[in-house]
Amino acid sequence: MTDTQTPQARRRTFAIISHPDAGKTTLTEKILLFGGAIQLAGEVKAKKNRVQTRSDWMGIERERGISVVTSVMTFEYDGRVFNLLDTPGHEDFSEDTYRTLTAVDSAVMVIDAAKGIEARTRKLFEVCRLRDIPIVTFINKLDREIRDPFDLLDEIEKTLALDTAPVNWPISRGKSFGGTYNLSENTVRQIDRDGPAISVSGPDDPAVLGLVPEYERDAWLEEIELARAGCRPFDLTAFREGHLTPVFFGSALRNFGVKDLIDAMGAYAPPPREQQAQTRVVKADEPKMTGFVFKIQANMDPNHRDRIAFMRVCSGKLSRGMKAKLVRTGKPMSLSAPQFFFAQDRAIADEAFAGDVVGIPNHGTLRIGDTLTEGEEIVFRGVPSFAPEIMRRIKLTDAMKAKKLREALQQMAEEGVVQLFVPQDGSAPIVGVVGALQLDVLKTRLAGEYSLPIDYETTRFSVCRWIDSDDQKELDKFINANGSALAVDLDGAPVFMASTAFSLNYEMERWPEIRFTDIKDYQ
Ligand code: GDP
Repeated sequence: MTDTQTPQARRRTFAIISHPDAGKTTLTEKILLFGGAIQLAGEVKAKKNRVQTRSDWMGIERERGISVVTSVMTFEYDGRVFNLLDTPGHEDFSEDTYRTLTAVDSAVMVIDAAKGIEARTRKLFEVCRLRDIPIVTFINKLDREIRDPFDLLDEIEKTLALDTAPVNWPISRGKSFGGTYNLSENTVRQIDRDGPAISVSGPDDPAVLGLVPEYERDAWLEEIELARAGCRPFDLTAFREGHLTPVFFGSALRNFGVKDLIDAMGAYAPPPREQQAQTRVVKADEPKMTGFVFKIQANMDPNHRDRIAFMRVCSGKLSRGMKAKLVRTGKPMSLSAPQFFFAQDRAIADEAFAGDVVGIPNHGTLRIGDTLTEGEEIVFRGVPSFAPEIMRRIKLTDAMKAKKLREALQQMAEEGVVQLFVPQDGSAPIVGVVGALQLDVLKTRLAGEYSLPIDYETTRFSVCRWIDSDDQKELDKFINANGSALAVDLDGAPVFMASTAFSLNYEMERWPEIRFTDIKDYQ
């Protein structure tokens, strides 16, 4: 068991990953209820339809009910401080969703028990896997008709290449869902009953069997036998290394299984991990403060370039008023008003520790991927770019403003609103995003902040990859051969754009000496 002696050892910084509709919002709400962070169920849900937020963010975000207030939700439970980082889903899915996963130490994967692993879950999981983030699985909606539990476990193992260790097992399902049976502890938790799980003599204990409809009992006992004999036991090391996921069955809507989940997060999920910087590894318990910016949020007043940069503290203690060094520029920066975020509110932070996420108001000084330290020249390698999934050419309605547009796009790309690709053939810039909402945000901000009305045009490109090679000649040859499909990104790195995944694959096969990558580290 992890100790809770030091502030950083008490931290659990995590995100929930899921496909839309699997139940992330419902689960978040129930987790926050346990943590005492919100009083009323329905609070988080309400954000989807909220007309008015407490703060006055950009119009587009307000319209869509996206709010910076819920980007990080901090609460205390059972002697630990949990930082739940929101990963936007649905149509507000964006690169921020991916970047947020670079700032967590663990994740809860929510799966709809009737549907299994869905596309978005798999994508988000792959991002977690890049850093071997430990995953706790919550199979949700057990109160509905579900797929066979063995089938679901098998699917996780096969499609994600992740070992599973079911901690509890559903007692019947659908309308007759009675609760869960803990496979290793011989305890039972009954649906709609609060309080601790009840110890029993075994699966055939009347207190358990009484929850199974009579005609199902033999089959259920057999299932438990099979689960016990055939499934892996939980192994903390394999979990912490990201190879094995403990699996919980439950129902977020019925508030069932949520306590077990959050208890498991407290007991097993890792405290702040060490972070890889370019020159060395930074440990969470080092005394000096370090951190990196993984998300920038436009602030209230579009005319004033107010931004909140979300920084993950990686080591040491951040105190209000301290001077930090922004490593990219070498300049000092006063952290005079770092902010904490709670489910319903935010507050000025007096101190924050490794694992915490603070919001730093600034006027465009901070960029995604920036490292802040107490003076040391280190750069974290935590925040990569992901190849966009939607590409659009920018059409400027006023051709006189081309230069201004270039500057504005550069700024927006630095903030991480979109990725910018400048085609080598001199044609109009192309922007790339992973979620369509980013395009709306860009358009609104260009109009509002720069008086630049733009439109989008489709391009013949739909996918792109960063390219490089150990053989410079071969790279030059490739670049020459593909002139009109070549662009450079914000840092001047070459990018190959293709019209379809098929044609991309075709080129990849034709040019074995060229590396085509869909993830690129910042800096
Ligand atoms: P999200 O899109 O992943 O945030 O999913 P939501 O939390 O909004 O849930 C999607 C739908 O599934 C909503 O109608 C929820 O009420 C419903 N839902 C969530 N959890 C459960 C559950 O445990 N059982 C049932 N029956 N419905 C659920």
